[in-house]
Order: sequence, then C-alpha cells, then structure tokens
Amino acid sequence: MGVTERDALIIVDVQNDLCPGGATPVASGEAVARAMTAAAAAFAQRGGAVFATQDWHPSGHPSFAPQGGQWPEHCVQGSRGAEFHPALTLPEGTVIVRKGASKDAYSGFVDSDLDAQLRARGIRRVAVGGLAADYGVLNTVIDALANGYETRMLTDAVGALNVEPGDGERALHLMRINGAELTTLAEALEE
Ligand code: ZN
Repeated sequence: MGVTERDALIIVDVQNDLCPGGATPVASGEAVARAMTAAAAAFAQRGGAVFATQDWHPSGHPSFAPQGGQWPEHCVQGSRGAEFHPALTLPEGTVIVRKGASKDAYSGFVDSDLDAQLRARGIRRVAVGGLAADYGVLNTVIDALANGYETRMLTDAVGALNVEPGDGERALHLMRINGAELTTLAEALEE
C-alpha cells in the first residue's frame, strides 16, 4: 500500500487530558503517543501529510458535567490538559486542527477546516489513530469515509476509553463495517 504525497496521517486528540493523569484518561495513552510519533515520522519521511487534531473547548463547554454534559472538564483552551502529550513529537509542517470550540465534536471533521485542508493538498487516502478509539477516532474515521477518503485505521496506534466494557471492540467493528481498513502501521507503510 505504501505512503505517498496523496496520503495523510490524522493524529486524533493525543492530549494530556486523554492520557493517564488527565481528566478522561485512556490507560494506554502514552504508548499511543509514542506509536503516533513513529507513524508521523514515517509519513513525513515518505512525503505524506501529517495532521493533528486537538480537542479545544472554552470553559463552561456544554460537554462538561457542570453544564449537564457527559464529561468532566477537559481540554480547556490554553490549559495543560489541552496540550499534546509530551511523548508525541510532531514533524515540521504538521497541520494542527482544533475542534470543539462551540458544539460538541468528537470528529476532526466537525466544526473544523480539516476536509478543506485535505482537499487543498490533493489527499485521497487517510490513516487515522490516536485517542480515543471509541470517540474521536471512531467519529473521525466514519466522517473520513463519508467524505470519500479511502480510510485506514492504525490498530497499533489507538486506545479506547471503554466507558462501557467492550466499547473499543465495538468501535473497531463499526469502523470496519463502514469500510475502513484496519491495519498496523508496518502494514500501512509496506509498498
Ligand atoms: Zn471534548
């Protein structure tokens, strides 16, 4: 399959608040950050584009529990929790896409210019990983497919929140039946 300049890597929400010590942690968050660092370096080396989404809420966001939402306060704009995890190293030229400033947005495509940026670069195929498999990654993959991108999900660079046991497995199943190809990074890089 390989990686060309028509490929983009989309790193979903690898931020402190989604990693151990954060507000809504994924247990494997740091390992996912390291895996995404490797993936980003490999894509950049092969001429692929690298995008990183960042959940980016104003304080008092409707998704927060005090406002009646489902989540504790997390990824508040400008806070340490909203910063990328220190184990995530992004190559030069990485495009940062911030989302969730107004409405609730699990997907990198909602309330952002991600689709326009991908189209402007002539991207036809995306590979997605990051946090969390059962929220941000799932919704980004579904929207990438709906927007017509050939979509790969990196099974070794993703971690689930599992608010309900099995959520992560169900998310992988949903991505697959919607047309995503589930592959490891090594498989995605193979020519
Ligand atoms: Zn959020």
